[in-house]
Amino acid sequence: MRVLITGGAGFIGSHLCDRFLAEGHNVVAMDNLITGNTRNIAHLAGNSQFQFIHHDITNYIYIKGDIDAVVHFASPASPIDYLKLPIQTLKVGALGTHNALGLALAKKAKFLSASTSEIYGDPLEHPQKESYPGNVDPIGPRGVYDEAKRYAEALVMAYHRVHGVDTHIVRIFNTYGPRMRLADGRVVPNFIAQALRGEPLTVYGDGMQTRSFQYVSDLVEGVYRLLHSDYNDPVNIGNPYEMSILEFAQVVNEITENKGGIIYKDERIQGDPQTRQPDISRAKSVLNWEPKVKLREGLTKTIAYFREVL
Ligand code: UDP
Repeated sequence: MRVLITGGAGFIGSHLCDRFLAEGHNVVAMDNLITGNTRNIAHLAGNSQFQFIHHDITNYIYIKGDIDAVVHFASPASPIDYLKLPIQTLKVGALGTHNALGLALAKKAKFLSASTSEIYGDPLEHPQKESYPGNVDPIGPRGVYDEAKRYAEALVMAYHRVHGVDTHIVRIFNTYGPRMRLADGRVVPNFIAQALRGEPLTVYGDGMQTRSFQYVSDLVEGVYRLLHSDYNDPVNIGNPYEMSILEFAQVVNEITENKGGIIYKDERIQGDPQTRQPDISRAKSVLNWEPKVKLREGLTKTIAYFREVL
């Protein structure tokens, strides 16, 4: 296959480039580099199966030749990023998704869209099944991301129903691993950077809010399987192992042997989801997928990466 990966220079996008290349496919990565970085794909320079195009997909996408699959991962995804880039976030979810779908239609390509657990908002159902419609405030601070992704899902399903495009939607839960940006503001890079500097870890609020962290290779496996499946409804891909942010801070301090402890700060953004845990029964039955990497194993690899970057 020849695969277009939008957001291909980002954290997850670059891991997808590696996976598709490893499977023998030809990869075109596209990125406007507002949150992605060519450092993430520098190791692919000179690979004849790989091409990078610096382009903002909110503008018309032109690609010469055949494309067999469009894997659409372009978007700011960290709360700090999308608060700084609210309009770009809305535009890439809306116009970017529209252009990427238009390209898939024109090239008769399969399409896979990166959606998010954020479409469930601050969920009133726990754990979250794909059938749960969510609890999102459209004009709250997270609305720019949540609604962009909700609109993107609606558009993807419309292209599937109206044009018969073979579309797939992955709802990604918190994912971590090497190539996350040190300063992207998310809890994993924040805590690891603080721990490696011997500083206290900044826990926002009371630390009782929960998340479920998945290692990036598990996500990539789920995405790869979903693209090759004949399943068109959204699928949660995440690790159901849920913990409080306070517990997570303790694990990071333990693994890094950080003596800096923990400090509490005010809630970062109003409307921080209080719980989040994927129900992955659909991924299990449709894709025969479940996460493999244990938290400590994934964190150890991620910490090794951040040690090099720091
Ligand atoms: N968080 C924290 N300290 C930090 C960064 C984040 O306590 O330095 C909390 C944040 O308030 C949220 C959780 O960790 O409850 C996960 O935040 P992240 O930005 O990683 O992603 P989110 O799941 O909120 O999109």
